[in-house]
Amino acid sequence: MKKILMLATGGTIASKPTENGLVPQLTADDLIACVPELAALCQIHTLEVCHLDSTDMTPAQWAKIALTVQENYAAYDGFVVCHGTDTMSYAAAALSYMIQNSPKPVVLTGSQKSVFVRDTDARNNLIDAFVYATDPLACGVRLVFNGKVILGTRARKVRTRSFNAFDSIDYPEIAVIRDHRVLHFIRPTPNADPAPHFSAHFDNRVVLLKLIPGLDVGIIDYLSAHTRAVIVEGFGMGGLPDYAGNSLSDAVGKLIAAGVMVIMATQVPHEGSNLSVYAVGQRAAAQYNLLETGTMTLEASVMKTMWALGGSDSPARFRQLFFTPVENDLLGE
Ligand code: ASP
Repeated sequence: MKKILMLATGGTIASKPTENGLVPQLTADDLIACVPELAALCQIHTLEVCHLDSTDMTPAQWAKIALTVQENYAAYDGFVVCHGTDTMSYAAAALSYMIQNSPKPVVLTGSQKSVFVRDTDARNNLIDAFVYATDPLACGVRLVFNGKVILGTRARKVRTRSFNAFDSIDYPEIAVIRDHRVLHFIRPTPNADPAPHFSAHFDNRVVLLKLIPGLDVGIIDYLSAHTRAVIVEGFGMGGLPDYAGNSLSDAVGKLIAAGVMVIMATQVPHEGSNLSVYAVGQRAAAQYNLLETGTMTLEASVMKTMWALGGSDSPARFRQLFFTPVENDLLGE
């Protein structure tokens, strides 16, 4: 029988109602006790990482999860991480960068309703997460929710209430779980180097700046003293607006001169950015040699930026880490 380590972090799945709203209170053992079917699947050990609504999770907690997986790697066949759904796609991306090339699965799951509610999705999601974690083909960082198995680099929360809360963005779900059986759509390619690589470093001095039409760029001066990277969530394929007397392009020039990395992304949910298509994009790219997120999801772009900043001491090294594909975060490479 396989041995799985379950890490509990809080989230709705572990919440109970209080007079101030839902608060995570249940331990990992409480969760397991609500799903007796799990005992037939594998041997489970548990660890408490924290008891947080995932709104309060930061890269520091995700680094703690990665280190816990690293410390326990040899002793277990896989890992299940119970996490709040609100920042789970950031967590899945963060763990995909901190734990690379893992032949053992690290599976994130959670639920839209507490495990105690009669019509909860928690029980099914937990069973599916363990079914996947014990599957012979499972590996890498994955998010399992509502029967979908999604790469950690491609997940996004797309619904606040429905059980079908997560989508795989611009990439197929790699498997589905039906009646607690895994159907693989994309099988992992056998790896020449089957050893996991752990690197739990992060620098969270990153800002995501969403453009709105007519944005006053005065705000950007503040950013140069407080950030190491600004991801600009632009319009469409990407470009920097140039309003008379209020030029984002000039403001970006000042950021770059101050040593801040500026990375262009798009606020369009699908199909990524491409600065080479329009003059507004080409102008920005040529003037400042801007980086762009391309086919990466916004969540992956944010977490990869934090991870690459934490692991680099020069802009050249940052670029190298940022543009090295990890788990299909960059497509067509
Ligand atoms: N606010 C909760 C959290 O992210 C929502 C959930 O888990 O579904 O922790």
